[in-house]
Amino acid sequence: MSFNVADIRNQFPILHQQVYKKDLVYLDNAATTQKPQRVIDVLDKYYQKYNANIHRGVHFLSSHCTDATESARKTVQEFINAAHSHEIVFTRGTTESVNLVAQTFAEKFIKKGDEIVVTRMEHHSNIVPWQMVCEKYGAELKVVDIHPDGQINMDSFKAALNEKVRLVAFTHVSNTLGTINNVKELTSSAHQQQIPVLIDGAQAVQHTHVDVQAIDADFYVFSGHKIYAPTGIGVLYGKEKWLEQLPPWQGGGEMIDQVTFEKTTFNELPFKFEAGTPNYIGAIALGEALDFVRSTGIDQIKAHEDALLTYAAEKIRQFDGIKIIGEAPEKSSVLSFVIDNIHPYDIGVLLDKTGIAVRTGNHCTQPLHDWYKVPGTVRASFALYNTKKEIDYFIEKLEQVLEMLK
Ligand code: PMP
Repeated sequence: MSFNVADIRNQFPILHQQVYKKDLVYLDNAATTQKPQRVIDVLDKYYQKYNANIHRGVHFLSSHCTDATESARKTVQEFINAAHSHEIVFTRGTTESVNLVAQTFAEKFIKKGDEIVVTRMEHHSNIVPWQMVCEKYGAELKVVDIHPDGQINMDSFKAALNEKVRLVAFTHVSNTLGTINNVKELTSSAHQQQIPVLIDGAQAVQHTHVDVQAIDADFYVFSGHKIYAPTGIGVLYGKEKWLEQLPPWQGGGEMIDQVTFEKTTFNELPFKFEAGTPNYIGAIALGEALDFVRSTGIDQIKAHEDALLTYAAEKIRQFDGIKIIGEAPEKSSVLSFVIDNIHPYDIGVLLDKTGIAVRTGNHCTQPLHDWYKVPGTVRASFALYNTKKEIDYFIEKLEQVLEMLK
């Protein structure tokens, strides 16, 4: 399969515009990705022609949307190589998926004195839900350390695993450091002690091949909007044996089997966890986005993004006083940095005026930033449609901005 970035860019209408009369250079892909025309067309088509609530109608439109939603579930299943499509639960996104697992898992399995383990590099959405349930049930949140280059400290990881630990939650790829964790090894270490794992795949699925069975993940979560799909749709993958054991989360329509005022019985998987009208058109568009990634080729995407990262990192290292935060050997296309005596926010604001979109701040990893003793970083994150020419422009403008701020 040949990878032609010009052809790819042509599929993303938003990229072909100017901001402040400058060509848009979108380098904020770790926050959200842009949408290809075919995903936009699916949304348009479904709202123009097919929209009807799923699962409960006998009529043509309802059956059509139901079939398309279930077909999207199969697409997700194949994309991450889950064993069954009923192991795929549609949620609003990574955050909702983590909260769903945290709350239901804790209700069933967490008691006073237990421990839940996370790592120092987690996004707030893989910290706070666990902290909340720890507080509620009297459990303790334990934190695994990292090395200064942004890799997980395996000694610290192994030392954290003891008989009190009920679950370990860690990210596949760090949204701040770019580190690609060896999730197979981490999972296998946890499993040696019979501890299940939840893996945050929010920054992984769009960059690297994910096979939940090969990883042996118990739970794997991600958001649609970071993989070229719309906002408001996400995925919780859970092994059947775990999802079966967890109690329902939200109550309402769809998640039930029989309802009387005395007692309610619950629907089978995955519907037990999909209360209310789901974002079915979002799910259908997610299926389309995954087909887009599949047909483009995840290996080609990764090779292109890796080349961009190497190119940008080499150029940026030449600036005086710059420090890249996150230098793990296995890295995804995230480049976070700080520059001596210059606030990241100022850099972001000035770059914006040149048409360049980067993110500044703590990227929802405040404990990680505290550990590196930086108030925030500037983060440029690359996707399949970015080009070396854009990086040249970014470096040129960064140089000018730093001159101004000196
Ligand atoms: N985890 C990671 C690693 C992320 O990068 C993000 C999004 N920045 C999230 C979780 C949360 O994703 P969402 O806001 O889509 O729920």
